[in-house]
Amino acid sequence: MAQLETDLVIIGAGPTGLFAAYYAGFRGFRVAVVDSLPELGGQITAMYPEKLILDVAGFPRVKGRELVEGLVEQANTAEPDYLLGRTATGLDCTDDAVTVSLDDDTAVVAKALIITAGIGKFSPRPLPAGDGWLGRGMEFFVPSFAPYAGKDVVIVGGGDSAFDWAVSLEPIASSVTLVHRRDAFRAHERTVQQVRDSSVEIVTKAQVTGLFGEPTVSEVEITVDGQEPVRRPAQAVVAALGFVADLGPLQHWGIEVQKRHVVVDSSMRTNLPRVFAAGDVTEYDGKVRLIAVGFGEAATAVNNAAVVIDPSAHVFPGHSSEAS
Ligand SMILES: Cc1cc2nc3c(=O)[nH]c(=O)nc-3n(C[C@H](O)[C@H](O)[C@H](O)COP(=O)(O)OP(=O)(O)OC[C@H]3O[C@@H](n4cnc5c(N)ncnc54)[C@H](O)[C@@H]3O)c2cc1C
Repeated sequence: MAQLETDLVIIGAGPTGLFAAYYAGFRGFRVAVVDSLPELGGQITAMYPEKLILDVAGFPRVKGRELVEGLVEQANTAEPDYLLGRTATGLDCTDDAVTVSLDDDTAVVAKALIITAGIGKFSPRPLPAGDGWLGRGMEFFVPSFAPYAGKDVVIVGGGDSAFDWAVSLEPIASSVTLVHRRDAFRAHERTVQQVRDSSVEIVTKAQVTGLFGEPTVSEVEITVDGQEPVRRPAQAVVAALGFVADLGPLQHWGIEVQKRHVVVDSSMRTNLPRVFAAGDVTEYDGKVRLIAVGFGEAATAVNNAAVVIDPSAHVFPGHSSEAS
């Protein structure tokens, strides 16, 4: 079993976890950040990277992707150890340390833990016909558009991500086809209209029933309800079928959980010593689940964890402007 020793371990690399990582660096601590997703940014990266966010203090409007870029730049000042694509599956607390076990057999030993696990570990809903095609032309995320230039792209899904990606890829792809199993969509009406007004072909009451090609996809089979399957060229398939979130193993670590959320006090402490929580995952009277609130809770959690990590430290960190 590989072992990593650090001062603070953070579970969850969403906006709250990233800001907590920055704060750990500001306090002079070593920090490790674990996330089951392969990318940083939590819900923002997974679900709405191209949407404008209007309620982050100091940014009258900011695209999800740009907010994450800023958070990562800020977090990187702490030089975190990012442990991505790995799920935290176990927790062991002693009087002077916490040990978080990951599903790749790594053990992260730290003086304190902050859980910023949001709505839990999310996994993309699989495309049944796409089994074995991930990375061979099929993806669940569209983190950048350039790889799709000049390709015939098939997007599967009827939600915001499917439509946002159709809008973004249409100008650069050779063709974009959106396949959805119903004829009603869950995306914003304005985006749906934008897609209808574009060259994107929308195929409804239909499913992608096969992918073909070697080594990467070159054709897909689309089956419209009640009709014969039809094959068409496609060098890229985006399965935008949404995500399932699961708080999973956290619920069995002896942490007080209420309706799938971690109960904290006003210093973001849980019922376990050395274990704090912040962001969407927390529960207390009056809790509001917003990015802005998560930022405040991250600062509170790290600064209270600071005293646990180093008993001679103060909760108040001083002003960052004085350190600049
Ligand atoms: C479509 C949409 C639009 C939104 N728009 C806004 C908006 O305009 N303004 C606003 O303030 N909020 C908005 N929100 C809500 C906002 O995204 C959340 O409040 C925010 O992402 C919470 O951040 P977080 O870091 O606490 O958790 P998350 O972003 O959920 O990140 C948690 C991370 O923890 C990881 N994780 C969980 N469990 C484990 C585990 N066991 N091991 C490893 N990793 C784990 C997950 O993979 C995830 O990456 C929106 C949400 C959605 C879905």
